[in-house]
Amino acid sequence: MPLAIVNSAAALEEALRTVRTSGEKIAFVPTMGALHEGHLTLVREARRLAPFVVVSIFVNPTQFGPQEDFSRYPRDLPGDAAKLQSAEANLLFAPSQEDIYPPGFQTTVEVGEVTDGLCGAYRPGHFRGVTTVVARLFGLVKPHLALFGEKDYQQLVAIKTMTRDLALGIEIVGVPTVREPDGLALSSRNVYLSPEERTRACALFRGLSRAQNAAREGEKDVARLLDLARQEIVPAVDTLQYLEIRDAETLRPLSTLSAPARILCAAFIGKTRLIDNLPLA
Ligand code: AMP
Repeated sequence: MPLAIVNSAAALEEALRTVRTSGEKIAFVPTMGALHEGHLTLVREARRLAPFVVVSIFVNPTQFGPQEDFSRYPRDLPGDAAKLQSAEANLLFAPSQEDIYPPGFQTTVEVGEVTDGLCGAYRPGHFRGVTTVVARLFGLVKPHLALFGEKDYQQLVAIKTMTRDLALGIEIVGVPTVREPDGLALSSRNVYLSPEERTRACALFRGLSRAQNAAREGEKDVARLLDLARQEIVPAVDTLQYLEIRDAETLRPLSTLSAPARILCAAFIGKTRLIDNLPLA
């Protein structure tokens, strides 16, 4: 089936009409475009879980800070459409800003505690922008399930929390991070890295993996696990914003590994901000 492309909320509703009346399950993958294998893995997983897959491409201005890369964020709609066609998505929704934020738009969705620390501490307003746009997209697409990458782990937890708290009735599916052969997590922002920065960037994964391996071997002390990761990461990056171990579900800080946990970090390599995380048993 050829990929259908719609550019407005009205055209989306029209395109989904027969799918809705057939009762077919709709899976939804929201993205900001510049698609890579990570995004396409979400699409293929969506295809496995539902017969009809909607992908959105919208570079959402409200989730970027004033000093961030909104205007230079990579955009390639024709290339993205070709990739979605080969991943067998059914419908691409690429709305305008006016469709997402029409005149009179005045509602925001703000999730509490889980968005406070980690990226939330360094990107004020970011998660409010994310949860607001995702709530609006959920309202337009009305999917049965929606897929998000573990790459943006705090975002995944925030969206699960929003969906549960507002009883949106959408199943949220997390998909493990897709990586380059040297471990670097795929990201649309990796194109910003110079060859020298690209070499240093894989230290994030190396550091997180070191902690993960030590945890597998029985180390439970969070301070010691963080030390192991820090030894790899600190020499390679320009600024380490955070390196933390949190409860995998609540994102609360931990001092010993008891429940499933996650090690998460954010660092600048040159002018590029990279994030990554891994599960700890
Ligand atoms: P973005 O376009 O960066 O907003 O990402 C759209 C979706 O793709 C989000 O759910 C991301 O978590 C997910 N994603 C981005 N990079 C990866 C990756 N390397 N592996 C898996 N999912 C990813």
